[in-house]
Amino acid sequence: MTHPVRYSIIPKDPAAHLFEVTLTVEAPDPAGQRFVLPAWIPGSYMIREFARNIVRIAAVANGRKVALKKTDKHSWQAGRCEGPLVLTYEVYAWDLSVRTAHLDQTHAFFNGTSVFLRVTGQEQAPHEVDIRRPEGGEYAGWRVATALPELDAERYGFGRYAAADYDELIDHPVELGGFALATFKAHGVPHDVVITGQVPRLDMARLCADLKKVCDAQIRLFEPDSRRAPMKRYVFMTLAVGDGYGGLEHRASTALICSRADLPVQGKKEMTDGYRTYLGLCSHEYFHTWNVKRIKPAAFAPYDLQNEGYTSLLWLFEGFTSYYDDLMLVRAGLIAEADYFKLLAKTANGVLRGSGRTRQSVAESSFDAWVKYYRQDENAPNAIVSYYAKGSLVALGLDLTIRAASGGKKSLDDVMRALWQRYGRDFYGTGEGAGRGLGESDAEALFEEVSGVSLKRFFDRYIRGTDDVPLDKLLAPFGVTVADKRRNGNPSLGVRTTKEGSDCKLANVYEGGAAHRAGLSALDLLVAVDGLRVTATNLDTLMSRYSVGDTVTVHAFRRDELMVFSATLTPDEAPQVTLTSEMKPAAMARLRSAWLA
Ligand code: ZN
Repeated sequence: MTHPVRYSIIPKDPAAHLFEVTLTVEAPDPAGQRFVLPAWIPGSYMIREFARNIVRIAAVANGRKVALKKTDKHSWQAGRCEGPLVLTYEVYAWDLSVRTAHLDQTHAFFNGTSVFLRVTGQEQAPHEVDIRRPEGGEYAGWRVATALPELDAERYGFGRYAAADYDELIDHPVELGGFALATFKAHGVPHDVVITGQVPRLDMARLCADLKKVCDAQIRLFEPDSRRAPMKRYVFMTLAVGDGYGGLEHRASTALICSRADLPVQGKKEMTDGYRTYLGLCSHEYFHTWNVKRIKPAAFAPYDLQNEGYTSLLWLFEGFTSYYDDLMLVRAGLIAEADYFKLLAKTANGVLRGSGRTRQSVAESSFDAWVKYYRQDENAPNAIVSYYAKGSLVALGLDLTIRAASGGKKSLDDVMRALWQRYGRDFYGTGEGAGRGLGESDAEALFEEVSGVSLKRFFDRYIRGTDDVPLDKLLAPFGVTVADKRRNGNPSLGVRTTKEGSDCKLANVYEGGAAHRAGLSALDLLVAVDGLRVTATNLDTLMSRYSVGDTVTVHAFRRDELMVFSATLTPDEAPQVTLTSEMKPAAMARLRSAWLA
């Protein structure tokens, strides 16, 4: 029989942000067991080298020390020994993000990719983890939130949890602490809502009611007949902070960070921008339960967590998820159609702002995510396009194209269901479809087959090519008018600025704008325009006295050297897209309500 790989983890020294992990291998490789920590975490496409946070490590077998040799930055090789081999190591956890691990006196959070060394050759064995309460009376009230199945622990209790294999073990983040907790059911499946951090007067009942609408709608989208969710239970775990935003998807849970102010307050019923943003984030990560955690690119089936996983399909896995996140809010009745159009306009404005969209397609952006999208520098607007934002416009464009061409009979929903049935539903099963990923060139044929619409031109222009998705043409049959009012714009330097103390720093210099032509550079500190001081907040006011075509003298510091530039002001190129819907003929209204209702 296969022995389970057994871990225990305890927040050993919260003040020093140290977890202690022990790992027991009953039958280590007789040639010398290797241990490896992942270099990246699925869902966040950047090499992060988590092993750098292991600060102490030792191995023992049968009461005797076993030599451990570091063989590369992620890996250790134990000397030959008979089992059981026990590793003990400390992990420094002080990164307040959803991607790694964080520990102090107020809570503990970890992803398995940060704390559980992989036992090479035993990845397919069952894995167990004993999650232990930190020592000290102040931790008596702590509970455990995770979607890991319990072995002998009670729900929310400390004790042993189980995973079928290493891949599952590291796909269930864990939160420990005195969090707020509530549960609702979506099509029969329990969903936990866990909120960590101080949130006065949190309206948990409203949060559960609203999330239930989103979850119900998504389950129905993928399984309209059976209404079967893909997991036995689900956990939304949120860390509320003063200012923050982020999320990471997992197969039966999501870890989120949000601003405290975004969460609903008891007695206040309005839909704030912040709460809509938070619900959109929850909707996004929940949609990933199907799209990327089960429907996966072949490059992630299985993941190679030591090296970059190259795929040109993130426009589908992130872009489509970004399209459906807000769409599900309007379909679930949480936001109005007019609000949805404002969100679409905002996305379009973001995509159209930079000339990088003419240099990089969403397929290329996907492939290079590791070194470009995830490692953006000051030149990003001129060099890259977001596979999230343009990918969501591609999804919108495909949805509208299919709906219009099929007279409303087919839509992107049918495409998603076909992807689900062929790749997702059995991904974690044991049948023929288990572990099967979507090939790099399989999407186009599948989309055409399911929709009955020829899409080669669409793929050539907007996915493999860099053309702008023509929202005006695509939305016209739905009675939605698109306008861009940017040409009425004010005179501008063609820059994005940030505050640097009380000074004004150039964050981005847009290609072709006045600043670029004058020779100003990103990171330059603006000092004066025509002899008047520029502060962190007054550049627009200064500019408003000029007209397009006027030439101004700009003083700026580059590092510590004062430089003088002559800039001829250009029209503000920031796009001002608006979407307005009119009550057009009945056919249009029918198409639109099939799309949004
Ligand atoms: Zn995502």
